Amino acid sequence: MNNSKPDRTQSRLWSERANSVILGGVNSPSRSFKSVGGGPPVVMKRGSGSRFIDVDGNTYIDYLAAYGPLVLGHAHPEVMAAIRSATEDGILYGTPTPWEVEFAEALRAAVPDLERIRFVNSGTEAVMTTVRVARGVTGRNKIIKFEGCYHGHSDLMLVAAGSGPSSMGVPDSAGVTESTAREVITVPYNDIPALEQALDRFGDDVAAVLVEPIVGNFGIVPPASESYLADVIDRTHRAGALVIFDEVITAFRFHYGTAAQMYNVHPDLFALGKIIGGGLPIGAYGGRQDIMERVAPLGPVYQAGTMAGNPLSMRAGIACLQVLRQPGIYERMDRLGEQLAAGILEAAAAVSEPVTLNRVGGAFTLFFGAHTVRNYEDAKRTDGQRFAQFFHALLDRGISIAPSKYEAWFVSAAHTEEDIAITLTAVEKSFKALQDI
Ligand code: PMP
Repeated sequence: MNNSKPDRTQSRLWSERANSVILGGVNSPSRSFKSVGGGPPVVMKRGSGSRFIDVDGNTYIDYLAAYGPLVLGHAHPEVMAAIRSATEDGILYGTPTPWEVEFAEALRAAVPDLERIRFVNSGTEAVMTTVRVARGVTGRNKIIKFEGCYHGHSDLMLVAAGSGPSSMGVPDSAGVTESTAREVITVPYNDIPALEQALDRFGDDVAAVLVEPIVGNFGIVPPASESYLADVIDRTHRAGALVIFDEVITAFRFHYGTAAQMYNVHPDLFALGKIIGGGLPIGAYGGRQDIMERVAPLGPVYQAGTMAGNPLSMRAGIACLQVLRQPGIYERMDRLGEQLAAGILEAAAAVSEPVTLNRVGGAFTLFFGAHTVRNYEDAKRTDGQRFAQFFHALLDRGISIAPSKYEAWFVSAAHTEEDIAITLTAVEKSFKALQDI
């Protein structure tokens, strides 16, 4: 981790090969470097603990955490052991298994509001299904969501849709019909009067209000007041609609449970994903028993999946939760997150770089701009170009964060005090380098 630019020849060569077979060279658009000035992304080949190594052999301290799932860092021994032993038993049966039961029990023990659960394979599927359930149960059509929140790439959710699409400058997706877009109403986050207005206008036809309780997709943005989420739920229920919390990022991120529990509120349905799979593909949805009982085979709302509840994901998830239950693990991530955030702010102040930092536990976003960020409009007004310069300055010094100003840094259980110290040295140097640009 010296100051000379690392050699990334092999990354470039793999990217060139990728570009001629994989559309755009990536399997998810946010992995491209499009929003940080273009160029080939770094191609990784191995991860261990808090670090990963690229195809040229360069090592990086990883705060990307695969966009959230890697709360235990790379290749956690207990998760790896669970996956290894799972593979010895054959990996798919297409029948019920003990592990899906054990895993659902563990989730419900942590989050009693998950009265009934179904496992799917991605956060996209989880959210898409909660929306179908809400429509099926209420007999209503419209969904209210919040500007800049991302809820996966199902048609309905690609209206004013957060980090990936917005950093690409594509607010909506081509191929989503106008009639679909008309079913979605978007309001600003952290703005109860705006939600009230939308409910007044469309209330009779609103099936659900869908929210990331702590936003992760235009940067980390928590509720501006303690009562915000309770107010969202209260107003929504008064309009006869259901409340869905998209906790794909937030569940098991800040404590052993949901963001709903942190604010002592009770949405009707939850969508989960990322962390609960221990790094394997997963999604889950669940909530009130009377609502969930409307799903097939008990009810008329259909949802199915060949890979749903597959033993590998279940057993990795069980192992991940077991580790997360160990005392002190979240306190430690919080403390390291606080240390890192404080050091970053100090380094920015030392060179008079105007920044603002939103942090919840071990997750935070450093925005380039001095204004408070409480909603998507605030996040949009931050300086993307400055972010891109900082991103590359860090990357060249062996620190990997997500290539978008709308994403978070994730401190994992694998990060050490030493990692934080090394990171802060790189941060200081990067801020200084920015002053010369
Ligand atoms: N909801 C939220 C809040 C997310 O952050 C994401 C993914 N970033 C999704 C849903 C979609 O999850 P997946 O990528 O697993 O489909």
